[in-house]
Amino acid sequence: MSKLTDISYVRDVLSRNGFTFSKALGQNFLINPSVCPKMAQMCGAGENVGVIEVGPGAGVLTYELAAVSHKVVAVELDKRLLPVLAETLAQYNNVSIINDDVMKLDLHELIRDEFGDGEVVICANLPYYITSPIIMRILEQRLPVSSLTVMVQKEAADRICAAPGTKQSGAISAAVHYYSEPEVLFKVSKGSFMPAPKVDSAVIRLNILQKSPVDVADEALFFMVVKASFGQRRKTLPNSLSAGLSMPKPEIISVLEGAGIRPTARAEEMTMQNFADIANKLSSR
Ligand code: SAM
Repeated sequence: MSKLTDISYVRDVLSRNGFTFSKALGQNFLINPSVCPKMAQMCGAGENVGVIEVGPGAGVLTYELAAVSHKVVAVELDKRLLPVLAETLAQYNNVSIINDDVMKLDLHELIRDEFGDGEVVICANLPYYITSPIIMRILEQRLPVSSLTVMVQKEAADRICAAPGTKQSGAISAAVHYYSEPEVLFKVSKGSFMPAPKVDSAVIRLNILQKSPVDVADEALFFMVVKASFGQRRKTLPNSLSAGLSMPKPEIISVLEGAGIRPTARAEEMTMQNFADIANKLSSR
């Protein structure tokens, strides 16, 4: 079993390497011994399935991933963690660490170079300050990966996984459901981390879809409609769409009527099909 959930061991490795936690980089390391083995099991990594990890930290999840997958490539921005990882993962020769920013790295190139045509999944305890941008970057780039299993703050997990058309849904729910089928796997209490964050977390898995659940004529317009609809959450659709798309309200109302949507509706009532109908009506004008 990994020693990396033993607080005194981790503290010792980190302090010997002169490491101090950076809040700005979202550094909350997992210390609950049951979480990482479970994530490694549930993310789909295996003898023939490689893994990309974002933000290995001290290597606690990387260690478990390396035990189940033939190859792990972990992208870590903080170069102070490189000597730490060299020490904690010394027993594995199937792990490569890339010192880079996941928001800047060419992930298509990384997958091609490191995994060729082999199956790949993504598994990570994401830095909370850029959870949604990382998820959206991976989805929008249509990376050839079968799933993303990520730990995010509990509230973000609920929002990301909420079905469009339900009260908790937001722009991120619709975007995520366009590319994947999301599910909440399990919750993780804030006490499972060092240092402990203020809120609980959850592990979610986004199973990538080969085909989106709705047909849209213009993808960019579909996402503009989603964003504009939720731009002014409390307002009705004619108000938020008119402001967000810079179009006169009467025109928006006629588009909505053409799509069979009442003009008093709000963004959170819209299903994926409703958003697609609005975007398709707009693009055919
Ligand atoms: N995987 C470790 C664990 O579970 O204990 C650490 C998770 S910690 C929540 C997030 C990690 O992401 C940190 O190691 C942090 O340095 C790294 N990180 C933050 N921003 C990053 C970025 N833009 N690209 C790559 N890694 C990043």
